[in-house]
Amino acid sequence: MVIVRLNEANFEYDIYGLVKSFFPTQSVEIQYEEGAEPKDSAPKPHEIEEPITLVMNVHYENGRIGLSMSGKTTEVEVDDSNRKDTKNRLKRLIYQALQEYTGRELPWGTLTGIRPTKIALTQLLEEVPEEEIRSYMKETYLTSEEKIDLSMKVVTKEKEMLSKVDYQDGYSLYIGIPFCPSTCLYCSFPSYALASYNGQVERYLQCLEKELQFLHDSIPEKKLTTIYFGGGTPTSLSAEQLDWLLSKVEEYLDLSHLLEYTVEAGRPDSITRDKLEVLKAHGVDRISINPQTMKQETLKLIGRHHTVESIYDAYQMAREVGFETINMDMILGLPGESLEDVEHSLKEVAKLEPDNLTVHSLAIKHSSRLNIEWDKYRNYVMENSDSHMHAAYEVAKELGMKPYYLYRQKNMAGNLENVGFSVPGHEGLYNVLIMEEKQTIMALGAGSACKYVTDGGKTVTRSENVKDVTNYIERIDEMIERKRNKLEEIAWL
Ligand code: SF4
Repeated sequence: MVIVRLNEANFEYDIYGLVKSFFPTQSVEIQYEEGAEPKDSAPKPHEIEEPITLVMNVHYENGRIGLSMSGKTTEVEVDDSNRKDTKNRLKRLIYQALQEYTGRELPWGTLTGIRPTKIALTQLLEEVPEEEIRSYMKETYLTSEEKIDLSMKVVTKEKEMLSKVDYQDGYSLYIGIPFCPSTCLYCSFPSYALASYNGQVERYLQCLEKELQFLHDSIPEKKLTTIYFGGGTPTSLSAEQLDWLLSKVEEYLDLSHLLEYTVEAGRPDSITRDKLEVLKAHGVDRISINPQTMKQETLKLIGRHHTVESIYDAYQMAREVGFETINMDMILGLPGESLEDVEHSLKEVAKLEPDNLTVHSLAIKHSSRLNIEWDKYRNYVMENSDSHMHAAYEVAKELGMKPYYLYRQKNMAGNLENVGFSVPGHEGLYNVLIMEEKQTIMALGAGSACKYVTDGGKTVTRSENVKDVTNYIERIDEMIERKRNKLEEIAWL
C-alpha cells in the first residue's frame, strides 16, 4: 500500500494518478493528516515485492512544496497564483522521488490523463514550432523521446484530418447498440447479452427513433460530419433490424455532408453476409472486425464464444461484400498470454491485411468481470511491455500503417497506450474527433454521452443517457429533455 498524506486538499487526483502509475498493483490511499511521522518499510528499489508500505508526506506552504519519503525531504518553489505550473512542479517532484525509489521511468513521464496528445495538438494548432513542443513535453512532463516522437506523428496527422471539419456548424453522431452475443471478461461498456434482452430490442430501437426525430426537429440546419455505430455490438441486431434502423437515420437526418459512416461489427460471431450487405447498401464505409487475440484458448477464457476460424471467415465475407476500410482491434496483456502469443496473433492479423489496426493495452475496469472476479484470474500473467508494443508497431509498419490517434486509460497493463494505426487514406475521423474534443458529438442510446464542444474547443460539457436498457426505455423522454436543455445552453436551439 502507498499512503500519501497531504497537509491540505490540493491536486489529490493528479497525485493519485501519478503514484498509481508507478505502483499499478498497490492500493494508493490519500490521507489528510498533518504532523504524522512517515512509517516507511519499503525495501530497496531492486527488491520491491508485494506488499509494500510506503508513506509520502506532501506539505504545501506559501510558495513552497515539500515532499518527505524514505527519510528524505525534497522541496520545490512554486508560484501559488499559477495553478497549472504549481501542479506540474509538484508532479515532477513526486515523479523524481518515485523514480529514485523504484528505479523505474514512466514512458509518458508525469502525463497521467487519458489524452496525452491534447497538449501537443493544441500547440500545433497554435502554430508553435515542433521543436518547442518537443522541449515542452520533455521539460514539463518528463516524457520520453520515444513517446514524444509518437505524439508528434499522431498530432501532425490529426491536424491534417481536422482541417476538413466544420467545428462551428457541424456535428458527429454516435448511436449505441448495447447488445452483444456474450459479455467479454474485461468489458466495461454498456453491453447486455442479447439472449437475455431479446424481448427489449424492438422497444430499444423505437427509442432510438425518438432520439433521431428529436435531432431532426431540433438541429436541422447543423451539418452531420461522421456517424459511428458502437456499443455493444451493433451487428448483434438482425439484418432486418439494421436495415430498419439505418433507414430511419436516412429518413431523419441529412447525410449529404457526411465524410464517414462507421459501424463497429466487432464480434465475428455477430457477422453474417446479409447484415454486411445491409450496411453496404446504406453507405457504411468503415467496419471493425475485432479479434483481440488469435489464440483460441484466450478467446474462451475471455468469454468470446467464437473460433479463430470465424474471424477469418467474417473478414473474408466483408471483403467480398466490398468493404474497403476494415479495422481490427487487438488487446495486449490478456490473461495468460505470453509475448509469443501476442506475436503470433499479430502475425495472423497481418496476413489478412486490414486497413486499420487498433492496439489496446488491457485495462482492468472497475465494472468488468475481470475486476469483480479478480481472485479467479489474479494468477494469470497479464503483461504488456515495451516489447509487446514494439511487436505491434513493427507489424503496423510492415502493413504500411502509421499511427493517427492514441489515448490512455486508467489501470492499463504496462501503463502504456492504445494506438490506432492506419494505411494512409483509411484513417477514422470519428476516432480523432472523440479523442480531441474539437466538434460536438450527439450520442443516442443507453449509456451514451453527448459531448458539447464550444468556445472553439475550449469548453466541453456533457449530457448522459442512463446505462441500463430498461431504464433508458422507460425514461426516454427525460433523456431527450436532457439533450434539449444542453442544446439550449450552448445556443444551438
Ligand atoms: S464485444 Fe465489446 S462491448 Fe461486447 S462484451 Fe465484448 S468488450 Fe463488451
